Amino acid sequence: MSIVQIKPYIHQNSQCPHCQGDLEPLSILWQGMHICIETECTQCHAKIIDDLKVGHATVLNNQIDLEKNQYFGSEWLSQALLNSLKNPIEDKINITKEIFKSSERVIILNCIDFLYGHCLLKLLNAQSHIDNDSDYGLIVIVPKFMRWLVPDGVSEIWTVDIKLGNSQKHYSSFHQFVSQEMERFQEVYVSKAYSHPQEFNISRFTRIPKHDFQKEDVIVSFIWREDRLWINSLIARGLKKTGLKSLAYWFQNWKIRNLFQRISLMIPEAKFVVTGLGKNTIFPSWIRDERVEKFDDKSEIKICQIYSDSRLVIGIHGSNMLLPSGHAGMTIDIMPKDRWGNFAQDILYAEQDERIAGFRYRYLPDGISLKQLVDIIKSMIIDYSEFISLMTAAKKGIKN
Ligand SMILES: [Zn+2]
Repeated sequence: MSIVQIKPYIHQNSQCPHCQGDLEPLSILWQGMHICIETECTQCHAKIIDDLKVGHATVLNNQIDLEKNQYFGSEWLSQALLNSLKNPIEDKINITKEIFKSSERVIILNCIDFLYGHCLLKLLNAQSHIDNDSDYGLIVIVPKFMRWLVPDGVSEIWTVDIKLGNSQKHYSSFHQFVSQEMERFQEVYVSKAYSHPQEFNISRFTRIPKHDFQKEDVIVSFIWREDRLWINSLIARGLKKTGLKSLAYWFQNWKIRNLFQRISLMIPEAKFVVTGLGKNTIFPSWIRDERVEKFDDKSEIKICQIYSDSRLVIGIHGSNMLLPSGHAGMTIDIMPKDRWGNFAQDILYAEQDERIAGFRYRYLPDGISLKQLVDIIKSMIIDYSEFISLMTAAKKGIKN
């Protein structure tokens, strides 16, 4: 099941971190990013706060003993959880409630997270609930910057005005708001909010269609970012330390121009766009510069259309690649050497056939030479149609 009941009964079996006795669930604590259960150990009577097994907690257990000031489980989540519970924030947080249809039985999908990519990936779970759990109303809790991505078909949207940087904190007013809303429902379930769901169509979220390979335009887009640069990491660090960051941006700009120039020699009809965050350095007029200083709903929608128009998007690994890869024809994810452990976590696959997916989504080391990169890009763009014909001929033959 991709849901967990929390009302009228809390369905979670957990053991005490001190004595391994069974924990008796008592009540729900709406921490914010986490949904926690206040429990008591049936053996040693320790009061344990148990993280509901949804989101990253489906695979990483987190437990807190506030009285003893101890955390148990995954360090990167439990420690911050303990800190947040020790230091609740009393400032009122703004929450906007939109109700589209009323239901007695609801599923809550909580998308609050301190990483942008995690918020988006959690939200993608909405599609499966809308399509497969129609007996329940779906309530989506989203940070304000993600409101525009909520798909049609949900019952309610609760928009929380919380910044990413504050999303690990515990706001008492958030707990009060959600606890009070719970009174309206007979049965409440929480979505498992898997970190990497497989069933989704990104266009239902952005309302922007995916790339149409029938279009003749060949647009290649590079996704610019300034915090993780496409230059040698040692040089980048050295320049940053010596206050020469602008030189690092300039070098990245030069590399992108050089790449685009080489591609245009191979594919003269190609057009080029730079998108992304940060506007340092300028590009020549033959490269369309669509970078922004800050994203808002309008620029997000505009940029998704650019990705959809792009035959190929290229960018440095990170959550900045999710929406581009979800809409573009093909993707090159440039991998810094310390990011291989996060392989594929930033790519939204829009392809069912494994072989075609292998063709459309490529992962290349950041040290790759421009020559090798251009050879790969040339083959991706020029050989695509023939590759698809070869790979789908058997399927078409069977149908005919
Ligand atoms: Zn115990």
